[in-house]
Amino acid sequence: MKLFENFSLKDLNTFHIDVKAKRFILVEKIDELFDLKDSFDLPSEKILILGGGSNVLFTKDFDSTIIQLSFNQLSEINSDKNFVLLKAEAGMVWDDLVKSTVENNLGGIENLAMIPGTVGAAPIQNIGAYGQELKDTLYEVEFYDLTERKIKSFSNEQCQFGYRDSVFKKSLKNKFIITSITLRLYKNPVPVLNYGNVATELSKEGIANPTIKDVSNIIRKIRTEKLPDPQKIGNAGSFFKNPFVDEKTLLQIKNNFPDVPSFLQENKIKIPAAWLIEKSGLKGFRKGNVGTYPKQPLVIVNYEDATGAEIIDFAKFIQKTVLETFNIELEPEVNII
Ligand SMILES: Cc1cc2nc3c(=O)[nH]c(=O)nc-3n(C[C@H](O)[C@H](O)[C@H](O)COP(=O)(O)OP(=O)(O)OC[C@H]3O[C@@H](n4cnc5c(N)ncnc54)[C@H](O)[C@@H]3O)c2cc1C
Repeated sequence: MKLFENFSLKDLNTFHIDVKAKRFILVEKIDELFDLKDSFDLPSEKILILGGGSNVLFTKDFDSTIIQLSFNQLSEINSDKNFVLLKAEAGMVWDDLVKSTVENNLGGIENLAMIPGTVGAAPIQNIGAYGQELKDTLYEVEFYDLTERKIKSFSNEQCQFGYRDSVFKKSLKNKFIITSITLRLYKNPVPVLNYGNVATELSKEGIANPTIKDVSNIIRKIRTEKLPDPQKIGNAGSFFKNPFVDEKTLLQIKNNFPDVPSFLQENKIKIPAAWLIEKSGLKGFRKGNVGTYPKQPLVIVNYEDATGAEIIDFAKFIQKTVLETFNIELEPEVNII
């Protein structure tokens, strides 16, 4: 375990916000979690677990303790004719896990290629992209319970997954540290092609019977073209969730915009927030150091050295404009700290 005081977080969040943590603890082994109680008063002291910092927006210095995990082992724990149970520790880079499963032709997370961040953060918002979500393959989550100070595990069902949601954002919020996840992956995978322009891009490349590796590679290509690289332009991916609307609202929007895109998820109607922002006239809109990314307006970018407060102001302006235009409230997907 390593402990730092007055620690800069600028390189530890993908918005590159220049803030400091009063205390920063790097936990290098699972067993060290049991020693944390000697470092501070658990669970009453406010702490933050930081993964890759790709889904957080810091608005000020963090006046307490931040914990980051670096243990990152991967192990096969069981296997039969059809499935493999693969356990990955929380500090592993998510995309390294995707690459490893794809190389071994184990299906289930290949469409989640290039999502930044760590394995430990993946269950928090049930990461999803291109027709796959973590919940489709997640078998078990292990976590350190900060109140009872012991390791516990939750099944898929106990995680209460929903769209960018889980029990870890609700009743368990701030009461746990995820230490590992176990995935149940397919040995004979069937590629998921029915989302966005995956099938079209594959046929452009002349790939008629794609493997999961082909699908993963094409998604990498699409994402590279469409999304800003956080190393070059600060951002945290989609800033807002796609809103669910009722049928009446959808019909009202259709009166003015007959081509409004919508799709069903969890038996509810979802409208792409990117479309709402674009039709509100804010695609590529920039105010000072902050803007919406011209190729994907759902992504708010930090062009220069914006503060967290500037980004919040900008996000509020987007919410207000979309509300005035469509009477729909956009809810942030990013965790505002
Ligand atoms: C360019 C870009 C593209 C993106 N695309 C997608 C996408 O397609 N789909 C998608 O779902 N997301 C996407 N994201 C968002 C982000 O990558 C994911 O939410 C990712 O899972 C965050 O991982 P992280 O390790 O960076 O988490 P952090 O940002 O460090 O933390 C996020 C939250 O999880 C908590 N947390 C982190 N680790 C732990 C742990 N071990 N135990 C307990 N709590 C923990 C934090 O306290 C915080 O509340 C994108 C982000 C970027 C920058």
